[in-house]
Amino acid sequence: MIKLQHKLLTIGLLTIALVGCKTYKNLEGDNNKKPNILFIMSDDHTTNAISAYGSRLANIAPTPNIDRLASEGVLMDNVFCTNSICTPSRAVIMTGEYSQNNGVKTLDDDFDKERENIAKILQKSGYQTAMIGKWHLHTEPTGFDYYNVLPGQGKYNNPLLKEKGKPWKDHNKGGEKYEGYVTDVITDQTIDWMDNSDKEKPFFLMSHHKAPHGLWEFAQRHAELFKDVDIPEPESLYTNENHGPIHGEKYGSSISSRNPGRNMLAQVTSEKWPTGPINVSGMSDKEKVSATYQKYLKDYLRTVAAIDENVGRILDYLDENGLTENTIVIYTSDQGQFLGEHDYFDKRWMYEESLRMPFVMRYPKEIKPKQRNSDMTLNVDFAPTFLDYAGVEKVPSYMQGKSFRGNLIGNTTEDWRTSMYYRYWMHMAHHYNPAHYGIRTEDYKLIFFYGLQLDSTNNSLKENYYNTPTEPYWELYDLKNDPKEMNNIYEDPKYIDIVKQLKEELLKLKEDVGDTDEIYPELMKVREKYWD
Ligand code: CA
Repeated sequence: MIKLQHKLLTIGLLTIALVGCKTYKNLEGDNNKKPNILFIMSDDHTTNAISAYGSRLANIAPTPNIDRLASEGVLMDNVFCTNSICTPSRAVIMTGEYSQNNGVKTLDDDFDKERENIAKILQKSGYQTAMIGKWHLHTEPTGFDYYNVLPGQGKYNNPLLKEKGKPWKDHNKGGEKYEGYVTDVITDQTIDWMDNSDKEKPFFLMSHHKAPHGLWEFAQRHAELFKDVDIPEPESLYTNENHGPIHGEKYGSSISSRNPGRNMLAQVTSEKWPTGPINVSGMSDKEKVSATYQKYLKDYLRTVAAIDENVGRILDYLDENGLTENTIVIYTSDQGQFLGEHDYFDKRWMYEESLRMPFVMRYPKEIKPKQRNSDMTLNVDFAPTFLDYAGVEKVPSYMQGKSFRGNLIGNTTEDWRTSMYYRYWMHMAHHYNPAHYGIRTEDYKLIFFYGLQLDSTNNSLKENYYNTPTEPYWELYDLKNDPKEMNNIYEDPKYIDIVKQLKEELLKLKEDVGDTDEIYPELMKVREKYWD
């Protein structure tokens, strides 16, 4: 043990020495050319639907190309988002700041295009920059030499793309039509841009897919995929034990008809379902849930199949053009997604399935093949990490994340985070998730569902929000012994001391990230009543 501590200390000091002397360049060998950064991000792709991560779906729905990227580099097990919803997660990635600091707390908030962002800094540092695919930050992309982006959510078939140089106007409208399937089109555009890029300058390229975001319109070539296959079900699809609110309220959109306001059963049996409805007449309740799950998963996994094929096309292009060695390739998603676990679909919750982001990365010059890293890392860390690889020495003081470059070569510092702060603002919007915040440590997760609608900035969309507060409550999960979060043990007297410690640490994290509740008098009132 002492030996190990000594070794860790030595590694730690060595890291400080390496960083202090800025000798990363030496690690790149004799070629000091800055690396290209190719950031491929999909939308709502859970680690459970990437075979390299393992899961009940790994054998039945393999993702060989994403797996190839992981096996030639590093697979990160514990990358979490700080607010599990599309637009806010993207704003975190662009700024290196938590939602309350970058101003994008909800789907309705506009990203401030005048402010600095990661693309602007890299552009100033000699990078050529481009953004292709799903942007979803409302305002016109800035910091990019080139962009060609989907208006709003974009379409799966024959999508429109809005190109730089044309009027931006309404972010949900406009653009030129591209024939084909959206995942293929975005990859075509990504490859075209690389082909026409300045070969003397490094590039920072964001290639963002619409898939596998709902509603899941797969490519016609995948229509028969999984046709006669039974997709394995999670146990918690039918039995949820003691997961969720202690008072028995039922929140969150469901696979079954549990949530009358939003459930998959009603959606996939509707004539309006884009890939065609299923017929569940004459089935028992359980059979209906099973049929609904099969339909949802098959549609979802077919859109994933196209993503994986297109990651393969990108990797082939890099190989064929001599770009593999000096290009950092990342595959990630803006957050996770529920695939029937706890009878949920969608994301938003602080539970594992939506909190965790897939993150695989390859950089042959520095990262050895077949690495696996389980350090607790956040989307707020991405921007500082890019700056580190790009040799930008001064990380702006507003950035709240930390570079994890050293972590990927075995140099995790001793003070690396062991807990993280999460907050979801959109109280009861769209999928009936009460607003909440919480702390995740390596062993536990404590969540406070404060149940208030705060910070809805867009008045025109306010009717989408459920204005009525919900009864506040707490949840505690023992992640070591209950990794699937089946048993909310908040009221178990055995955990009184753990709860106390976690609450203290949660308050400290809130202070550290600049999200103290004092600015919300209503929330302070709720806290007074429900904190202890
Ligand atoms: Ca998303």
